[in-house]
Amino acid sequence: MSLIGLTIHPATAPDRAELDTLLANIIQAVERAGGLPVLIPLGLNDATLRKLYARLDGVLFSGGGDIEPAHYRADAHPAVGGVAPERDRVELALVRWVVADSKPFFGICRGMQVLNVALGGTLYRDLASEYPGAPKHDFYPGLPYDYRSHAIQVEEDSLLSKILGEPVLAVNSLHHQACHDLASGLQVAARAADGVVEAVELPRHPFGLAVQWHPECLPDAPEMRRLFEAFIAAAGANRD
Ligand code: MN
Repeated sequence: MSLIGLTIHPATAPDRAELDTLLANIIQAVERAGGLPVLIPLGLNDATLRKLYARLDGVLFSGGGDIEPAHYRADAHPAVGGVAPERDRVELALVRWVVADSKPFFGICRGMQVLNVALGGTLYRDLASEYPGAPKHDFYPGLPYDYRSHAIQVEEDSLLSKILGEPVLAVNSLHHQACHDLASGLQVAARAADGVVEAVELPRHPFGLAVQWHPECLPDAPEMRRLFEAFIAAAGANRD
């Protein structure tokens, strides 16, 4: 079985109950897709983190609070919340390693933003105050996590398109930030109608895909399950 490392939020996260729920859904989704999930703890030094990383067949970057804006050369912003410096340190290192080593990875929500920032891209710190038209993408709290609040258009010929099998579909949306300048090497794989980037991928990588929505909260949707299955399959191929 493919050993899949999952990044985690700190116990001190202000919205810990919500993040616990999302992480539990990811654990279930990885298990159902045939993977063996293991949580990557915070607090390891670089050498120990690297040893744990070396055992993993794939890394899944989970959702969570905002990245410290200094990591993408931006100032503080009142809407930025849940910053966890140790989590930033661990995940930024892991992104650089999976990219350098061509190890399969899958990013979800914050995971997509971490990917972009680690490779040199920037973020909208807050869509409501920084993005033209102030589109609403933070359908929480108050709505169920599986509420599909907006559509996405998937890029033709992308890995995402091959997995999902349809050019337009509705997704859930639990984020207030989004990719701004895309890191060099990354390609947009899907956008919302307002232009907000909803998925990115790393071409010529065995499996380098990240989505802004939460497929783990849509476990009954075959196309969302296929995202996890394709990732686990790539991780298995990487091990063999
Ligand atoms: Mn969205």
